[in-house]
Amino acid sequence: MRIKKGDLVEVTTGADARKQPRKVLEIVQDGQKVIVEGVNRVYKHVKRGHPKAPQGGRLSLEMPIAISNVALYCDSCKKGVRVGVKYDDKGAKSRVCRKCGHVFNVISPANPKYATQSK
Ligand SMILES: [Zn+2]
Repeated sequence: MRIKKGDLVEVTTGADARKQPRKVLEIVQDGQKVIVEGVNRVYKHVKRGHPKAPQGGRLSLEMPIAISNVALYCDSCKKGVRVGVKYDDKGAKSRVCRKCGHVFNVISPANPKYATQSK
């Protein structure tokens, strides 16, 4: 999976599409949808006694959007980008920006089996 909880993403389509990073709060439906902070927000009316709204009233919450509508935000490119996977010379697997090569994070530890010749 290319997007994980806690990632910063750009929303690429829909009413909330904006070129700014937002945080992924949750991955739902087996990775088909994501909940992104402040995106696709709805107001739900709840009765008194709701754990998050003891007085009742309106509760603001984010609804899931399709994972295909978000792109991982690259700090160097300053926008959402496509993500690639790369092995370094020690065989550690990382998520990288396909545009500029920026390394987002290491997703699996060094494994000599995948070690590449250093370039
Ligand atoms: Zn980049």
